[in-house]
Amino acid sequence: MLSSALRILLIDSVDAARTLLARRLRAQGHFVEEASDAATGAEMALCSPPDAVVADLWMPGISGVQLCRLLRSEAATADVVVVLCGESDEPRDRFWAGKAGADEYVPKRRTGELVRALTRACSNRTASEPFFLQLGDGAQDVRDRIARHLDAALFDSVIASEVRALASAGSFERLFDLLVQFVAQVTRYRWIALLASASSYLAIHHRPGEAEAVDAELREAVTLPETPTMLRIEDEDASEAPKAACAAIVRRVPFGDGTLGSLVLAPCAVSESEAPRLVTLVANELGGPLRVAELMEESHRLAATDALTGLLNRRALSTLLGSEAARYQRYGHPLSLALLDVDHFKVINDRRGHASGDRVLAGLGKLLRTGIRVVDAAGRWGGEEFVVLFPNTNAEGALAAAENLRAAIEGMTLEDDGGLPLQVTASIGIATLLPGESIDAFIDRADRAMYAAKTGGRNRVSALPPTVTSEAKALVLRPS
Ligand code: GH3
Ligand code: MG
Ligand code: MG
Repeated sequence: MLSSALRILLIDSVDAARTLLARRLRAQGHFVEEASDAATGAEMALCSPPDAVVADLWMPGISGVQLCRLLRSEAATADVVVVLCGESDEPRDRFWAGKAGADEYVPKRRTGELVRALTRACSNRTASEPFFLQLGDGAQDVRDRIARHLDAALFDSVIASEVRALASAGSFERLFDLLVQFVAQVTRYRWIALLASASSYLAIHHRPGEAEAVDAELREAVTLPETPTMLRIEDEDASEAPKAACAAIVRRVPFGDGTLGSLVLAPCAVSESEAPRLVTLVANELGGPLRVAELMEESHRLAATDALTGLLNRRALSTLLGSEAARYQRYGHPLSLALLDVDHFKVINDRRGHASGDRVLAGLGKLLRTGIRVVDAAGRWGGEEFVVLFPNTNAEGALAAAENLRAAIEGMTLEDDGGLPLQVTASIGIATLLPGESIDAFIDRADRAMYAAKTGGRNRVSALPPTVTSEAKALVLRPS
């Protein structure tokens, strides 16, 4: 803007130093006003904003840093150039001056450097509309404003650090739960939602019985994934309020150069004015915690997944089997299991190559992932053996489900490594957990049933009667 004469306000409590510097600046053609304390300086700046303020960093009463924060937060002086002068070239002072919003930091008594800094900062500024502030009771008003700004800055920084601390949540579900508990302490809302775009996680918190209405409002506010992984918390921590005139506030959750998702909050009328700023603040800090939660979920998923088939691996399957069995022993819901072994798999490997064998396993993985109910779980038990768990399913149901799987496998056409068609069959043994039975015994019964299916001619489902001895005759269900 001004390449030559600037209107500069000099604020320094040391008269001699200030007078000397004022003289030097005036000699260079600038128009200089002086103040011997920050309160007076702030009042002068707010009532008649200069081009630049040059202030001592540490003054008694109000410091240069506090003054700078005030000037930055007031509309009248938000664009005024501020240069802070410190006793020495301390990195800490330079850093703190920058954080307060100062344009430049210059050690005292380096007039040449100060003039260059002023010229540089002023030429970088674009002229803004003049704006004058009417201060009430001069110095006291300045002090009150500084206290208010400091309190607001502290509030923001506490909110930011609380949100960042959510990085230790460990999962999306826990992250949202903790976030909700925190936000409910700070503002009142009708509902709040967090959407993680890449992983399609969607979490919503609202009052009980309002799911439909809230979902409709949410769909109006943001584009939702087609099949989100939903987490819904319904409790009375969300406020009861009429929808009227309180549109949902949508903020993107930034991370690096990109966007991880959206934070959406439907405020109550009473908290409406503060809510947009708060949602922005929370959303801006939420990227890190959300990314950590997503990465941890992903690493858990990978640790539980068999790479070739995309199914649960043996370890994850064992864990799941343990918890399902415990549920059975506690509630008595039936639990059945199918052990599936590919027929003559060695022949496929030998004749079509190991890579073709792998294609079969991957194809079976896909079939098992998509061909079973959501509540059922399939995993690779080892080699070419698979286990499917059927919770809440008795022997009869498991027999039917396993027969469906067997038929689906028989009907599946794959391509071998050379593009030639390849068909496989599998033998399946099923078992239904008995009261007090161990997991090993349970699996062993399914294994023996599977063996019976093999000896019975393969490509069939077999179940042993529950009171079996190893010699007991297998019930073999032949394919029709
Ligand atoms: P059966 O009908 O009696 O089950 O005959 P089978 O040939 O399937 O029997 P067996 O259990 O003896 O052979 C399993 C073969 O599966 C042996 C092993 O080389 C192969 N295999 C195990 N894991 C993998 C794998 O990850 N990829 C491939 N391509 N082959 C595997
Ligand atoms: Mg085998
Ligand atoms: Mg086999």
